[in-house]
Amino acid sequence: MMGNFDGIFEVLSEIKKNNTKLNYGKLRKIALSYRNSGIYPDSIHELGDNILFIASGKFEKMLIVAGSGNGSNDFEGNDFTRDGIKIKICSMNVANSKTIRKHFPYTNPVSYGDKNISMGLGDRIGLASPGHLRITAKYDVFPILAQQSIRELNLTGRNYGEVLSDAVWAVFQEGYTYGFGADGDHLKTPEEVRMALDCGFTMITLDCSEHIDNKAAEYSEPVLNEMYDRLPAAEREVLEKKYLSGMIQLKTGLNLNFEGYDFKKTVFVYLKAIKFTISIFNDLIKNCGRKIDFEMSIDETLTSTSPEAHYFVASELIAGGVKISSLAPRFCGEFQKGIDYRGDKVRFEKEFTVHAGIAGHFGYKISVHSGSDKFSVFPVVGKKTNDRYHLKTAGTSWLEAVRVIAVKNPELFRRMYSFAAQNLNEAKKYYYIFTETNMVPDAKLIKDQDLHKLLSIEESRQAMHVTYGLILTAKNADGTSMFRDEFFKTMYENEELYYAFLKRHIGKHLKYLHVPRRLL
Ligand code: ZN
Repeated sequence: MMGNFDGIFEVLSEIKKNNTKLNYGKLRKIALSYRNSGIYPDSIHELGDNILFIASGKFEKMLIVAGSGNGSNDFEGNDFTRDGIKIKICSMNVANSKTIRKHFPYTNPVSYGDKNISMGLGDRIGLASPGHLRITAKYDVFPILAQQSIRELNLTGRNYGEVLSDAVWAVFQEGYTYGFGADGDHLKTPEEVRMALDCGFTMITLDCSEHIDNKAAEYSEPVLNEMYDRLPAAEREVLEKKYLSGMIQLKTGLNLNFEGYDFKKTVFVYLKAIKFTISIFNDLIKNCGRKIDFEMSIDETLTSTSPEAHYFVASELIAGGVKISSLAPRFCGEFQKGIDYRGDKVRFEKEFTVHAGIAGHFGYKISVHSGSDKFSVFPVVGKKTNDRYHLKTAGTSWLEAVRVIAVKNPELFRRMYSFAAQNLNEAKKYYYIFTETNMVPDAKLIKDQDLHKLLSIEESRQAMHVTYGLILTAKNADGTSMFRDEFFKTMYENEELYYAFLKRHIGKHLKYLHVPRRLL
């Protein structure tokens, strides 16, 4: 048997002593009084005559199915009987998560629909979601627990099936019934979109960066005129009627004015991305049989998105039949990983107000990417959108895991930290951050009990933030993992501390965003 489940049998025989039938309320009461049973009290569920719950073994958590009623056969696992008590010990894998989803509908991801505030809470290590739920349950926010880009999958060696399974187990463990979503983030091809949909993801974030022609912004007027004249006459006529026949007044009180040369630039920078998005929506999203939150992201461009460009893209998508749930423009200033906003906050507020006004006019949400830790602009995000937006975070929850290591396993932290500094240039190939190798503070002179303070320094945060994939996949010469096994062991032994750190840190986000408390 994996782990030591003596405590579980003790609890179960305690129930049996008094009453032969297993019962949710009794088990919960006893599980709470036996603090070392390893049973997660909120994970206790009834399924026919069986009781299901999650318990921690010595090295990993398991799903326990107690009883032999109908339904226990649906799970993959090993049967054990002691003193007439029958239990099945099941691994918390993808297959068993699908059985959980079948029997407990609330553990399936769903579209956020008309929920006003939604938040992406990517969990790169599959351990963070219970901590996320313990704080988001208290606020009026819809959590997108499973949210990974293909880049993140490649860097952590996971797939969408596993990412969703980890979220499902977290929801089951916490008994969280308010609903959650799953976002295939920064998908670039039809194949990637199809894969995320096949895995049951409920939100698709289409990354159009490969179809945006940044060069067109620099073409001279004669070149643009020539390109424009090559468009079919009927297409030109429609465009001119829509955009060049005077001031455009939005429902939200804004006015936009397209001018000839700039208009042509906008057309050619975004035209291919618009057509690509329309085809993805019509071919894959529209008839997929369930409600999908569809986001178009144009945030990975060279310059910030102008109001006219934002309006043009949205208006053309909608004319093409696309139902947009959210759109991610590129804002002025810098939204770097894991640190606060860098840039002119006055200008940000002004421009963000316009973007929010365009989104409000069309009825979709503004989506803020790399949204973690942007405390100085969070109040603007809440206020200017009338508390209707999507905000994505991911790596900041990995940094809270690193904080657990700093506190509980300083020796491992020191090794991970110096590895991160040494390999920063490799990670910088795919993440844009301001931190250079020589800017990362030296940890040698810092006492063990102060190591966690490094995680309040921007340069250290960024170095640890972007190197997660390298750290988790690094191997010693003999093929053993350099950090991974010890990292997960320390995390497993300090799970509650991780949840507490996440509650505090994500809670700080919710507070700065002024997310209202959930009314129970
Ligand atoms: Zn993004």
